[in-house]
Amino acid sequence: MRSPTLTFLGAAQTVTGSRHLLTTASGKRILIDAGLFQGRKELRERNWAPWTAGKLDAVILTHAHIDHSGFLPRLYAQGLVGRALCTEGTRELSGLLLPDSGYLQEEDARIANRRGYSKHHPALPLYTAAEAETAARRLEAFPYDVPTAVVEGVQVTFRKAGHILGSAFLDLRADGKRILFSGDLGRYGSPLLADPQDPVAADALLLECTYGDRQHPPEGAAEQLASAILGAIGRGGPLLIPAFAVGRTQEILFLWRRLEHEGRIPKVPLFVDSPMATDVTPLYLKHPEDQSAEVRALLAQHVRPLHPSRLAFVRGGSESAKLLERQGFFAVIAASGMVTGGRILAHLEQHLPSPETTVLLVGYQAEETRGRRLLEGARELKLRGTLVPVRAHIAQMTGFSAHADWEEEERWLARAPSPPGRVFLVHGEPPSLEAQRARLAAKGWRVEAPQHGTEVELA
Ligand SMILES: [Zn+2]
Repeated sequence: MRSPTLTFLGAAQTVTGSRHLLTTASGKRILIDAGLFQGRKELRERNWAPWTAGKLDAVILTHAHIDHSGFLPRLYAQGLVGRALCTEGTRELSGLLLPDSGYLQEEDARIANRRGYSKHHPALPLYTAAEAETAARRLEAFPYDVPTAVVEGVQVTFRKAGHILGSAFLDLRADGKRILFSGDLGRYGSPLLADPQDPVAADALLLECTYGDRQHPPEGAAEQLASAILGAIGRGGPLLIPAFAVGRTQEILFLWRRLEHEGRIPKVPLFVDSPMATDVTPLYLKHPEDQSAEVRALLAQHVRPLHPSRLAFVRGGSESAKLLERQGFFAVIAASGMVTGGRILAHLEQHLPSPETTVLLVGYQAEETRGRRLLEGARELKLRGTLVPVRAHIAQMTGFSAHADWEEEERWLARAPSPPGRVFLVHGEPPSLEAQRARLAAKGWRVEAPQHGTEVELA
């Protein structure tokens, strides 16, 4: 039997643009993840490069994050996709996230046209919100643990990855080979999500390496959140929490309710000022297959696990504007998580100049983001064209991450019945890839970190 080949079309030596092409011996082409490149300009330009890998018989998504799914509407719009498969949770989240991504693409094109800085006249979006909606509607959803025919001779089983709602690693069989695609691997003991399932024996494993050279700090997220809330109440002004609308906001809500229930924080007004988070939150309660045992137990007792007692969701723009006038202590969770955009900007503009305000930054803050500048002690911050003085207290929570660190990956790998035949390291920056490569090579494993565009035969 001839062998399938793998081509690394994205997330090779970097963390965005996940796209892995599997070509079977009979010439069937299956793309695992169709992610957008994000971050540096030379990476983002890859989203615009002509697609040269041919028509795809199928696309399989590991999860709904845009760096794994956000290129799908572009492929669909060009008539390049036979079918697209994912889990139930991923289909639901994609129904919200892909159109939002299309809207942002249209917005970018509008801004480029207004300022006249595009090479193209007029500048066009990568895809529109309408095209993204079409792509999202055509996703076919499948349950975990059920082997599913993808195309003739290729079968996939989705297994829980514990990263976000609907996230999966893939157990794929083609041409007599068994290949595991880790997708983004979550953590054991997540408050909201079920643990990652165990890997199976495989001829090849594509392993994500976001934290190949780092370990998560041991301090608990709940303790950090409690002390930030109590500190903010003491200061008397608002507590502003920039947070991702998908996953992170729900984790905060879960811990907040638990802290309140345990009497460790008082019952205080809390607003989620984000239409996306407002739409996503109920989805986390709707999919028992993805939930942690604690969430399922609470739901069975008719406790709403994501609803602290004085929680309100803010959807409309006018309600959001009204919230800006509120005085005294209250808390607001709003996107984006690194203060690169979203409704949090207006709240910061209003409250950063006051020393009574507390800003709680959650998790990693990438370089050159406003979140990072606040952490580094910036005395003023540019927000929506205005230079705003920073007198607020800036706090950080480090106890949250949706990705396994290298120790947690070791734990996951050790649960396979036998080591994988080959390992390809993806979805990591070079230092992270090298650290993980050295670690796995020391076990005697055959491991490599492919360059962008590399093609490998799985003989
Ligand atoms: Zn992800």
